[in-house]
Amino acid sequence: MAGGADESQLGPATRLVTVGRRAEWTGTPAEPGAVVNPPVWRASTHLYPDSAALHAGKPNQDGHFYYGRRGAPTQWALADALTALEPGAAGTVLYPSGVAALAGGLLAVLRPGDVLLMTDNAYEPTRTMGRGLLKDFGIETRWFDPVDPDGFRAAICDRTRAVLLESPGSLTLEVQDVPTLSAIAHERGLTVLLDNTWAGPLGFPALERGADIAVMSLTKHVGGHSDLMLGSASAGERYYAKLRRTAQALGQVVAPDDASLALRGLRTMGIRLAQETSSALELSRWLDSLDEVARVLCPMLPGSPGHRLWERDFSGGCGLFSFVFRGKDGKARDAFIDALELFGIGYSWGGYESLITPIDPAPLRTASAWPLPGMDEADRFGVRLSIGLEAAGDLRADLERGFAAWRAA
Ligand SMILES: *Cc1c(COP(=O)(O)O)cnc(C)c1O
Repeated sequence: MAGGADESQLGPATRLVTVGRRAEWTGTPAEPGAVVNPPVWRASTHLYPDSAALHAGKPNQDGHFYYGRRGAPTQWALADALTALEPGAAGTVLYPSGVAALAGGLLAVLRPGDVLLMTDNAYEPTRTMGRGLLKDFGIETRWFDPVDPDGFRAAICDRTRAVLLESPGSLTLEVQDVPTLSAIAHERGLTVLLDNTWAGPLGFPALERGADIAVMSLTKHVGGHSDLMLGSASAGERYYAKLRRTAQALGQVVAPDDASLALRGLRTMGIRLAQETSSALELSRWLDSLDEVARVLCPMLPGSPGHRLWERDFSGGCGLFSFVFRGKDGKARDAFIDALELFGIGYSWGGYESLITPIDPAPLRTASAWPLPGMDEADRFGVRLSIGLEAAGDLRADLERGFAAWRAA
């Protein structure tokens, strides 16, 4: 950023505007040709003026030209911006997707013979990684109840090396007690990885709350426009070095075009999150009042499970939440979804447009129950809503259409 202000002292809204815009990447207004955004810098090859310059190069330092796999200013600007937004981070590694970031983080800290403890509400491909890729490499994954710190403590054994948290879980939205779980993990020397895609650094400063590695799918709120896939992992000095080494060994690199789109998304992320959060809260309050709804799974909703922890640990939310129908079946649920006109049907979330997906958590859980404790066995058919930037009243009217179809089914 220009000027001498200490970036870390500025409010989040201001930092979203200033981060990742170093004069070395954008030029300075004192010289002709300065621009607002770091340009898309396409390069596999960086040229040196002579052999002396090549020999003097710093091939493996951040922010130095070497070869395309180490990035160029567009990618550096995005990584720099994400590091600046994450208190306690020394650096950020970019990956071609959120799943690649999770794989990169796990492979950086786990070795054959190790045990990984994974929260039972983890994103499905993360679970699949535990059962597949990690298992093939001799790493054992065991799952634990996301909201039971005592059970987590009891599950740690001599071979446990790391824990993967996800809070709130992206389907069922349980909030984990990250500070307590991290403290328990650190007592036993474990590394704590957190999938922080839901809140991001504005809503949940992951490293400050105890995580060692904060992973995000940038595909969701950072991109924000449903047109790119990227992931990131941010960490302090020690783990950043491990992440970087592993990513380089795996040949992970992201395109400057995608990095540029993510930087563009980042600029408006704060106001998008605020708008979505307000609409999501309004809609979840309304849904909670309906006879057709057995349970709203939204930690921002006062009185909901997880709300107390959310209030204690989070400074923001987002538009992603789920609800479960009272009784009926999957056919009625599908009729609800098909009657909607404003909600797109699709995976993913965090875009400017609203989306809906059916959720069926039961087969995905091994260490905790679905339906959740306190819910009726018959109330198991749910949907996940990603609330976008449409007017909340229009979304509510759309959902009312859905309920009419659900009742008629
Ligand atoms: C989407 C998602 C991911 C994976 O991100 P991709 O960019 O789709 O690979 C990881 N974690 C959570 C919670 C997600 O929702």
